[in-house]
Amino acid sequence: MFDGWAPTLTALIEAGDSTPTPRRIEAMPTGPRWVNRPGITLIGDAAHLMPPVGEGANQAMLDAAELAGVLAANPADPDSAIRAYEEAMFTRIHPIAEMSARVQAMMLSPTAADDIVRFFTARPSEPAAAS
Ligand SMILES: Cc1cc2nc3c(=O)[nH]c(=O)nc-3n(C[C@H](O)[C@H](O)[C@H](O)COP(=O)(O)OP(=O)(O)OC[C@H]3O[C@@H](n4cnc5c(N)ncnc54)[C@H](O)[C@@H]3O)c2cc1C
Repeated sequence: MFDGWAPTLTALIEAGDSTPTPRRIEAMPTGPRWVNRPGITLIGDAAHLMPPVGEGANQAMLDAAELAGVLAANPADPDSAIRAYEEAMFTRIHPIAEMSARVQAMMLSPTAADDIVRFFTARPSEPAAAS
């Protein structure tokens, strides 16, 4: 499978203690939302599992901080605090999930190597995100 890859990369695989175990990359459809239910909510991957392009753990921590913030600010009405958290989280996550899906599609395309170079070298006035 890795025939023709740079030896510096295949050396990383060969240095493993066992043969590689392929894992599927799972993701929810972009723009997750659900009908609010009193007394319960979701944060992190349970709320918005995305392709791994550097956002999941960061958004999970932000979810936790923002949920804690609204609960602390409105201790008398936790259900309304949860609704506020969910609406803000849905709005925040939607474009990030779309971007993550685009970047994953770019990384798995036949032109991935060239696309990645362009992605990291494009000037700000030349958006390089995959279509
Ligand atoms: C290959 C890869 C690379 C990534 N790179 C990045 C990155 O560079 N930057 C970034 O921000 N994010 C990255 N992520 C995403 C990040 O890892 C996740 O978004 C983050 O870990 C989600 O945190 P979480 O706490 O929501 O879920 P998890 O980290 O999945 O934690 C859930 C925990 O619940 C436990 N659990 C499950 N079921 C039960 C049960 N019934 N009872 C008790 N415990 C249970 C699980 O064992 C697990 O420990 C990457 C992900 C992958 C797969």
